[in-house]
Amino acid sequence: MYLMDYHIHTNRSTDAKSSLDEVCMAAIEKNVKDIAITDHFEPIKKDPDYKIYDAEACMEDIRKAREKYKGFLTIKFGVELGHPHLYPEHSERLIRQYPYDFVIASGHKMPKDIDFSEVDYAGSDLAKHCEKYLANLKELVLWEHYDCVGHFDLVKRYAARQGIQVNLLRFFPEQVDEILKTIIKLNKGIEINTSGLRQNTGGCLPDYDIIKRYKDLGGTFITVGSDAHSSEDVGEDICQGICLTRAAGFDYITVYDQRMPILMPIRKLHEKSQKESA
Ligand SMILES: [Zn+2]
Ligand SMILES: [Zn+2]
Repeated sequence: MYLMDYHIHTNRSTDAKSSLDEVCMAAIEKNVKDIAITDHFEPIKKDPDYKIYDAEACMEDIRKAREKYKGFLTIKFGVELGHPHLYPEHSERLIRQYPYDFVIASGHKMPKDIDFSEVDYAGSDLAKHCEKYLANLKELVLWEHYDCVGHFDLVKRYAARQGIQVNLLRFFPEQVDEILKTIIKLNKGIEINTSGLRQNTGGCLPDYDIIKRYKDLGGTFITVGSDAHSSEDVGEDICQGICLTRAAGFDYITVYDQRMPILMPIRKLHEKSQKESA
């Protein structure tokens, strides 16, 4: 099957360890044909330009890798913007300045630089933390300059680390609907982030229920990404993500090129793979 992985970090992200070369080799080995490198741009108050992220160097890495793996792998230049709505000038400047193919917007932090990974979900304030996350996501999706929203129900990942299961759609259906409707109205997409399957979250981020809701409300664009932070995880559970997309009623998986969505028919992914390897 023709596979794509639209959420991958290299060692240009501080929390990831593999070089782009290692990522490309792993992708080829796992029969992934189209990858988007989405290293972190994670502004904080003290460093709103997030200088540790070197977009120029990322671009150069990708230029070289495109030459080296030509005919074997399509490599997209992407970025994962953390909470761009809180640092709009810096985030907008970055994406204006570089020729990105794909931009993910992720709600990692709330105002005052508090990271959702640092919250105590096991205490009595679980509902309050989830509401805060959704209020933050509601602002984020209005920011308009992204292609897809990253890991829609991220708090699920962090709560699961503390032994707590969270289902945002079940607990907060109105808030989830409102956010999904904004995404759809702005003609943006969501991703299926398969990392949850490796992290005992009990499913993808988001899982079937939210993907189906996005579809039922009129959503079109779905990408699938592993959120790999090391080369071993590149392409992990992408097939499962594609199955989930199909099960939710989508006939297409979305890939991006120069910020333009391209809809790939799921039923043709087998054929396409055979043709390319012939
Ligand atoms: Zn993220
Ligand atoms: Zn990520």
